[in-house]
Amino acid sequence: MRKQTNLDRDPLGTVQPLSLNVVAGGAGFIGSHLCRALLDRGESVLCLDNLQTSRPSNLRALEGQPRFRFLRHDITQPLPSDLLRLAPRITRVWNLACPASPPQYQRDPEHTMLTNVVGTNHLLRLAETAKARFLLTSTSEVYGDPEIHPQAEDYRGNVSCTGPRACYDEGKRAAESLAFDYARMGRAQVRVARIFNTYGPNMDPGDGRVVSNLICQALRGDELTVYGDGSQTRSFCYVSDMVAGLMALMEAEIDGLEPVNLGNPAEMTVNELLGHVIALTGTRAPVVHRPLPVDDPRRRRPDISRARALLDWAPKVPLAEGLEATCAWFAAELAAEPAAAGAAG
Ligand code: UDP
Repeated sequence: MRKQTNLDRDPLGTVQPLSLNVVAGGAGFIGSHLCRALLDRGESVLCLDNLQTSRPSNLRALEGQPRFRFLRHDITQPLPSDLLRLAPRITRVWNLACPASPPQYQRDPEHTMLTNVVGTNHLLRLAETAKARFLLTSTSEVYGDPEIHPQAEDYRGNVSCTGPRACYDEGKRAAESLAFDYARMGRAQVRVARIFNTYGPNMDPGDGRVVSNLICQALRGDELTVYGDGSQTRSFCYVSDMVAGLMALMEAEIDGLEPVNLGNPAEMTVNELLGHVIALTGTRAPVVHRPLPVDDPRRRRPDISRARALLDWAPKVPLAEGLEATCAWFAAELAAEPAAAGAAG
């Protein structure tokens, strides 16, 4: 059983009245950086998280802040009355609640689907009641294994509704449908971000993503796992750039009736990423090839023209800089928690 933390015991009633943000999934990788950035901007944050794949340690640095509260809650369940009572104070509802790594979201596919559909609906209703703006973090996975390259928002995707990734990508597509229906019906102001692969500090070492796996394997001297022949591509965005994009999108005075891609267009193969990690860490560990997961997209790269035009946003952190910071963070993390180390495959 998980140990109780101070976060669990925090009351809700003392949250400051101004600019109250509800951040669902706020203990997760991107969510925890978003909570920090909102607090740094002087706002109040109520973080909701079921701690399924996220980590209380991501919130340690925020715990003592008077404008921050944590509530352990699974958004597939009706929102607690304590939270609903705060509705008049809530100005922004952010939905970042869902495991995003394939091995994690495939572990309980029913729950993944319900988190995206039922959970998103609970949060949309909260935004409607509170007259708050709502932001959904959708995903590049809505493009599936894309037939056009790079992917712009008007591409409708090549997604399998029967495969093992469907619980996530079809779940996110349904969540987008719900959000845009609320927007069209005038029930809530919505913003939908389609997030492409993101990396940085606060990733879970056991998450199973390629960046966290390769860095943790290199730091431990374990075999470096490449799925397939490593020629598949991804485009990796550093987390501070992603959070800046999400905040710009939430505040943008747009009609919100279209999704916006957020990601770094610098595309590379998994083999190229591996080369960067080897150069950075100096590891001499062997590379092993594992089967390519079912429905693993061959190529992925965001077209961010819309984000540039609407938000005047583009990523700033080059891969070398971001990987170095991420590596340093993982090194400290693994040194501090040797028992918890163990990258998933
Ligand atoms: N991958 C890999 N080795 C790993 C983990 C992932 O080669 O240890 C591959 C995976 O098959 C995919 C790419 O790296 O082609 C990105 O995987 P990740 O899970 O990070 O993100 P997603 O597939 O959701 O884009």
